Amino acid sequence: MTRPTYVYDLTALATHAAAVRAALPQRVELLYAVKANPDPGMLRTLAPTVDGFEAASRGELRHLAAVLPDRRVAAFAGPGKTDEDLAAAVAADVARIHVESPAELHRLAALARVGGRTVDVLLRVNLPVATPGAVLVMGGQASPFGMDPPEVVRLAADPPVGVRVRGVHAHLASGLDAATAAAVAREVTDWAVRQVRAEEVNVGGGMAVDYRHPEDRFDWPRYGRLLGEVTDAHPTVRLRIEPGRAVAVYCGSYLTEVIDVKRSQGRWFVIVAGGTHHLRTPAAKGHSQPYVVVPRGGDGPRTDGGPVTVVGQLCTPKDVLAQTSDGPTIAVGDVLVFGMAGAYAWNISHRDFLMHDPPDFAVGEPLALARIWGH
Ligand SMILES: *Cc1c(COP(=O)(O)O)cnc(C)c1O
Repeated sequence: MTRPTYVYDLTALATHAAAVRAALPQRVELLYAVKANPDPGMLRTLAPTVDGFEAASRGELRHLAAVLPDRRVAAFAGPGKTDEDLAAAVAADVARIHVESPAELHRLAALARVGGRTVDVLLRVNLPVATPGAVLVMGGQASPFGMDPPEVVRLAADPPVGVRVRGVHAHLASGLDAATAAAVAREVTDWAVRQVRAEEVNVGGGMAVDYRHPEDRFDWPRYGRLLGEVTDAHPTVRLRIEPGRAVAVYCGSYLTEVIDVKRSQGRWFVIVAGGTHHLRTPAAKGHSQPYVVVPRGGDGPRTDGGPVTVVGQLCTPKDVLAQTSDGPTIAVGDVLVFGMAGAYAWNISHRDFLMHDPPDFAVGEPLALARIWGH
């Protein structure tokens, strides 16, 4: 039995990131949200293409300093920043600190004054913007994220000594299609210029990823064209985006071997090595993780039509990776290659539950690796 293995296709990631960059207007800066997947190989692969990295914790700052020591961190964000977090960001000379509350702005300003510094910030605004079709909504309603618009206007007009307000940051929802994401960018930018005279606007991430229809991808060329209209309308503004999931998700796979196949009340259960403690995404988001079967020609039990539930090794009925009403035959010893595991996958998983071994990690093309895997 080979250990379950995450495979990161860094060639595909480089190609995809270059296509995303090429689809955006020159004047739009592309940051990568490290929390989607902080894998060092991924960060190094993205480094030449993206304009910078967004760190959402002191741990991510430390990680970026270790992996890309020569790179200035573009943005430091996240709710509940402690004084230690803010001091670390100031010491690391992060280009922009995204401020979540009035109290946080004042604590940051006080820290900056002690060091004789003036720190560049964006104020995170919770603007009531319609986000039809969103999967997760972070703003536009009562929210722990950001500040109400009047608060942002007030702080931008009269900031404490020690900070320079460069503009506005908004990350209002995730799961937005290109037209909706661009409409949100337009509204946020119009507001920021009119109300705050923003020089810079960061409109966040949240570009849609459809796990049920993996071939339906976020329309970057369309988004880029629509963002071009925003930059044309505001020629002096520096517009910035910070996607994570839609950049990294397609470039990771989780390979695992079938341990057992059995039938229960008319349904096939395929039990694989590993499970949601390695790949929590389907449990967290309530979807069936897409997979392909690489047959190994074993002569053990196999499914022969009808509904299939693919589960892992955890002692809980929630350890479900995929459910299908039908599909190809799966036999003991076959390899399942779960796709779309490049973002919010290993790093959001409850890895210590049941104390199973961790997965291995490899770089390459997942199907090619699956065919030679374990031989
Ligand atoms: C998580 C997050 C992102 C990235 O979101 P994706 O859905 O991965 O694109 C960007 N900005 C902020 C503030 C975030 O919290």
